[in-house]
Amino acid sequence: DLFQPERPNSMGFDLGHAPTLAAIDAARAPWKSHSWAAEPLLAKAPETATTTDEPVRNPADLTTVGRVQTAGQAEIETALSAATPWNASAETRAEVLNRAADLYEANYGELFALLTREAGKTLPDCVAELREAVDFLRYYAARISAEPPVGVFTCISPWNFPLAIFSGQIAAALAVGNAVLAKPAEQTPLIAHRAISLLHEAGVPRRALQLLPGAGAVGGAVTSDARVGGVAFTGSTATALKIRAAMAEHLRPGAPLIAETGGLNAMIVDSTALPEQAVQSIIESAFQSAGQRCSALRCLYLQEDIADNVLKMLKGAMDALHLGDPWNLSTDSGPVIDETARAGILAHIDAARAEGRILKEMTAPQGGTFVAPTLIEITGIQALEQEIFGPVLHVVRFKSQDLDQIIRDINATGYGLTFGLHTRIDDRVQYICDRIHAGNLYVNRNQIGAIVGSQPFGGEGLSGTGPKAGGPFYMMRFCAPDRQKSED
Ligand code: NAD
Repeated sequence: DLFQPERPNSMGFDLGHAPTLAAIDAARAPWKSHSWAAEPLLAKAPETATTTDEPVRNPADLTTVGRVQTAGQAEIETALSAATPWNASAETRAEVLNRAADLYEANYGELFALLTREAGKTLPDCVAELREAVDFLRYYAARISAEPPVGVFTCISPWNFPLAIFSGQIAAALAVGNAVLAKPAEQTPLIAHRAISLLHEAGVPRRALQLLPGAGAVGGAVTSDARVGGVAFTGSTATALKIRAAMAEHLRPGAPLIAETGGLNAMIVDSTALPEQAVQSIIESAFQSAGQRCSALRCLYLQEDIADNVLKMLKGAMDALHLGDPWNLSTDSGPVIDETARAGILAHIDAARAEGRILKEMTAPQGGTFVAPTLIEITGIQALEQEIFGPVLHVVRFKSQDLDQIIRDINATGYGLTFGLHTRIDDRVQYICDRIHAGNLYVNRNQIGAIVGSQPFGGEGLSGTGPKAGGPFYMMRFCAPDRQKSED
C-alpha cells in the first residue's frame, strides 16, 4: 500500500550503553584516516570538464579529509539541460526513498566519520543528524501524493546540517517527482557526495538527482535559470534575499522559494525557574555543536533576583565542558567550521572585550578552528545587529516589570526562529508564548533540536518562509497542484 502506515522515527543509538558505544566506535574506526573524493554527479558528462580541484579540511586539525572537484560552467549547463523529473510511480518513489533511508543507516560508520571529520560534529551530534536524515526520507516517503511536480527543483543547503538538511530538502522534492539539482555547502561536499551516491544506489535515476558541488556562485547559477521551477534553500537570511531577487528576475512568476534562514534566538529565565534545569538547557542551547545551530540560544534574559546565582552555576558548567577534537568521545564541543567563521566570531568577542562586556572567557584548543565558549553582557537583544554563528552567549539582566518590553524587543528584531522559556508559572508560559513571534517555542528544556513528524521546524519573519520542515505542509510547496498531469 502506497499510503503505508507511517514508520516510527528512527531509534538512533543509546550512547549510554557501553556495548553500543563500542560498536559505533568500531564501525567508524576504518574511516579515521580515509580520504574521500567528491565530484559533480551528473546525468551525462560534459564534453569538456570545467571542474576545479580543491582540498577539504578537517576543522579540528586542518588535515585534508579529501578532495572535491567543484562544478564549473560546463557541469552547471549539463545538469540544467539533462534534468528530467522522476516519472516513476508514486509507489516506486516511496520504496526508493525508504531504501535510501535503510542505506544511510547501514552506512552509519562512514557517515559518522564524515560528519566528524568534515563538519566537526561530536558523536551525539552525528547520531542526532543521521536520525533526522532518515526520518526526513521516511516521513516524506510516507506522504507521497499524486500531485504533479513543479519540474526542476534546486536544493541549496548549509554546512551545519550537511546530511539532515541536505537530505530533507532533496527527499521532499523527489517524493513529489521533481528533478533535483543539489548544491551542498562548499565546506561539506564529501558527505553530500556520499549521500547522493546512496540515493542513486537506492534507485533514484541520475537524471532526476544531480550533484553540483561548489561555492555560492554555483548556487547563483542554478537559482537564476528559467529551466529551474523552484528553490529550496536553507542558510543565512542574506543569501535567501539574494536568491529571491535572482528568482524574481529569471524564473517564472510564482516559482516557489522555500527559505529557512537565520535567527536571533532568545531565552527568558524568570526567578521561579529551577536553576539546575535552566543551566543545563542554557549550556546545551548555546554551546552544543559549538553554537552552530540555527536554533542556538544567542540572547539569555535572566531575572535580576536569580541572575548572579545562575551565572555562577553557568560559569562552573562551562568550565566542565570538554573542548577539542570531536572524534574523541569525551568531547562536548568541537571546532567552528572554518577560519572565516572563526575570524568573524573572534572579531565580535574582541569588540565586546574592548567595551569591558566579557563575563566569561575560556582558552580555546590549539590546532584547528576553535572558539571557546564565551559570555558577553549586553543591555538587550536590540544591541545585537546580526546572528553570531558560534559559541557566544549574550546575557541580559531584567526586572519582572520589563517583561512586556522584552517581548516587544525580541519581536522587533524581525527574526522568529526559536524561543526558550524557563518558569514555573503556567499563566506566564501562556502569556509569553501567545506574544512571542517564533516558529518553535521550548518551555523548561533546551531550545535546540526537533523531531521530524512531531515537532515540525521552521521560523517566521526574517527566519523563514515556511512551511516547516518535517511537517504536514512542507511537501505541498514542491507540488504544482494546478498543473495538468502529463500523459506519461
Ligand atoms: P550561507 O547562506 O552562507 O550558505 C548557505 C548555502 O547557500 C551554501 O550552499 C552556499 O554556497 C549557498 N550560497 C551562497 N551564496 C549564494 C547565492 N548568491 N546564491 C545561491 N546560493 C548561495 O549560510 P551558511 O553559513 O552555510 O549556514 C549558516 C546559516 O544557515 C545561519 O544563518 C543559520 O542560522 C542558517 N540555518 C538555518 C536553518 C533553519 O532551519 N532555519 C538551519 C540551518 C542553518
